[in-house]
Amino acid sequence: MKKISIIIPAHNEEQNVALIHQRIKEVFSTLENYRFEIIFVNDGSRDQTQAKIEELSQQFEEIKYIEFSRNFGHQPAVKAGMDASNANAIISMDADLQHPPELIPELIKKWEEGFDIVYTIRTYPKQISKFKRKTSSLYYKFLASISDVNLREGGGSDFRLMDSSVVDVVRNMNEADIFLRGLSNWMGFKQTGISFTAGERASGESSYDLQKMMKFAFTGITAFSVKPLYLAAYLGFIFSILSVFGYGIYVVHSFVTKTEISGWASLIMTVVFFGGLQLIILGIIGIYLGKIFKQVKERPNYIIRSKNF
Ligand code: UDP
Ligand code: MG
Repeated sequence: MKKISIIIPAHNEEQNVALIHQRIKEVFSTLENYRFEIIFVNDGSRDQTQAKIEELSQQFEEIKYIEFSRNFGHQPAVKAGMDASNANAIISMDADLQHPPELIPELIKKWEEGFDIVYTIRTYPKQISKFKRKTSSLYYKFLASISDVNLREGGGSDFRLMDSSVVDVVRNMNEADIFLRGLSNWMGFKQTGISFTAGERASGESSYDLQKMMKFAFTGITAFSVKPLYLAAYLGFIFSILSVFGYGIYVVHSFVTKTEISGWASLIMTVVFFGGLQLIILGIIGIYLGKIFKQVKERPNYIIRSKNF
């Protein structure tokens, strides 16, 4: 029998852990040749999530858990599950049932057809705010245009199956700010995708507010592209050329009219404009420098407080 690890990061999901276990169990009761385990990764929950998971793990032997020492974020949680798995394949999914467990047989079918990574393409139902849908699709377009990572619209879903050979590769990566959505696309292998409609959260609330989403977006861009760094070079080049022309115009103007161009306002505007531009560029360089700083410290992506396997 082939073994499948279902990796479920959980951050304040006390109501959902038992629910999702139940649903997954039902799905696997229809699949004959596979056995499954669920690896819950408790990512620093502040509610009863850990107690609920431990209670479950005493009743069912297929329940494994990893408890983080604090909140490290969703992507490190998935990585932790992958590091710990010894199955033939892993499936990562959210705890809130927005990723329907009923799709698992289809993921497995594609895997059996020979695909190493089976990702899912999320189509949003009408209930999800237009703002979230639009920003998400714009973001992935932008990311595709400036990097080698091409996540199709809604392709940034963390519901995916990976063969153990792929998991081995990920396990050996020690990137400081791991961005699995991009990595799994970047790695290659044989990939295919299936669509699903994201449902509503079963209970509790989303841990992603605008600020977290922004941080996530920046992590993605700076993890896969150095193009923002070229911005300084391009802009420098453009403004140098412009200034040569501008200089020519001023010289000719003073000779022809025999007056100097006055202008305190234009001078100040120029100073402020270039001051701002320089700070932006400096900030961008700073972000990359920060990444190098994080990387050279070689701190782990996560710290485990307890686990039951
Ligand atoms: N999650 C996590 N750590 C975090 C935030 C979220 O492990 O810091 C988990 C969360 O429990 C859920 C999944 O990641 O299983 C997706 O989070 P959420 O549903 O809050 O995000 P959304 O679906 O709104 O994008
Ligand atoms: Mg969710």
